[in-house]
Formats: sequence, structure tokens, C-alpha cells
Amino acid sequence: MRKVLVLEDEDNIRSFVVINLKRAGYYTIEASSGEEALEKLKRNPDVKVALLDVMLPGIDGFEVCRRIRGNNSKIGIIMLTARSQEMDKVTGLMTGADDYVTKPFSPAELTARVDALYRRAGGDTPADSGEISQPPFLLNTRNRTLEKNGVRIKLTQVEYSVIKLFMDNPGKALSREEILEAVWGRDYYGEVKIVDVNIRRLRIKVEDDPTSPTYITTVWGYGYKWGF
Ligand code: CA
Repeated sequence: MRKVLVLEDEDNIRSFVVINLKRAGYYTIEASSGEEALEKLKRNPDVKVALLDVMLPGIDGFEVCRRIRGNNSKIGIIMLTARSQEMDKVTGLMTGADDYVTKPFSPAELTARVDALYRRAGGDTPADSGEISQPPFLLNTRNRTLEKNGVRIKLTQVEYSVIKLFMDNPGKALSREEILEAVWGRDYYGEVKIVDVNIRRLRIKVEDDPTSPTYITTVWGYGYKWGF
């Protein structure tokens, strides 16, 4: 499970952030004060990324950041800053935080930052729960197998990597280039068509009706989306 902590005292901003992270496939843990955030982190040691608002009642976001860093060097931390004068402090505290986003921010900007940090924080290593469940599919990341309605689907390593990428990004349109880079790597010099070939094969394996796909949908002129 891709867990992200969202610390923000303003309800409407927190909801906005949470909705967009959920849409991007993250499981969110919410806190409206620094104390609550620290408490919830203690109970959820598998949180890989934390979004921390700076201006809070009680201890501020910088202090929360400092305390988290005190015993966790791996977690990714993004500060949510509201005003330009907070930037100096952010710069001074960049040793603790990994990144910062200035309000107002767009959903795309926010999720891109979280995605990047999540990858760097090692969120996609098999160290997590070992399963991604998106009914009717169940992906086991330990033995790299996929099941649909409890029935094993045989996949090549490449197909597995494509499915894993999709299931890590449910509902998100992925460009063919993005898929190519994530699965085949930056050093792959072949044609982007290899993506289409593998998708076609995957559809035969995962779709109820491969001629009218519902799980792997085409985003015309762009790429593909794993969406329900
Ligand atoms: Ca605030």
C-alpha cells in the first residue's frame, strides 16, 4: 500500500490534497495538527512520504519535520508553504525536507512531486506489503504473479513490469514514452511500438473481451490508462 501522510490544518486544503492523492493511487493518512501527525506516523511506520503544512496551531511543520527526521532518514518529506517569506525558512531547513510546494498548487504538480519522492524513498521496492489488490486483480510483488478472480495469469517479466506500473498508477494516463522508460529503461533505444505490442498481448491475458478493453484503456494520441 502506498501510504502518504497529509498534515494540514485547513480542512478544505487537506481534502483537496487527499482527493487528488487518492485519485493518483495513494492511501492517505490525515492529520490536522503536528502532534496528531507524529502520533499517526508512529502507528504507520510504512508511510513513505509526508506532506507537511508549515503554519499550524501548536508545533509548526518545521518542528514536525525535524522530529520525523530525528528517527527516520528514509521517509520523503514535502513542505506545503503558503507564503513567500516562508521560503527562506524552507531553504534553511532543506536538510530535513526533501522538497516543498508553494500554495496554491495544481493537483498535477502535487502528485508529480509525491510520485518522484515516493520512487526515491524506495516505495516501489518489494519491501512493502507484497501485494497490490485491485479487484478483480491481485498482484503479488514478491513472487511477481498476477491473479484475476483468484486465477493465475501467466506473465512475462516485461508484462509483469507493465502491469505493476499500471497498478501503481491506477486511473492515471501514462504516455507510451513514460511506460517505455519505466519498464525498458532510459537506455532502451528501440521503438516505442514495443509498448503497444506488449499492451496488445496483455489485453488478451487480462481483459474480459480484448476487443473492447475496460482495464487497459487507450488514451488516444498519448498512451494508456489502467482504469476502472
Ligand atoms: Ca496552515
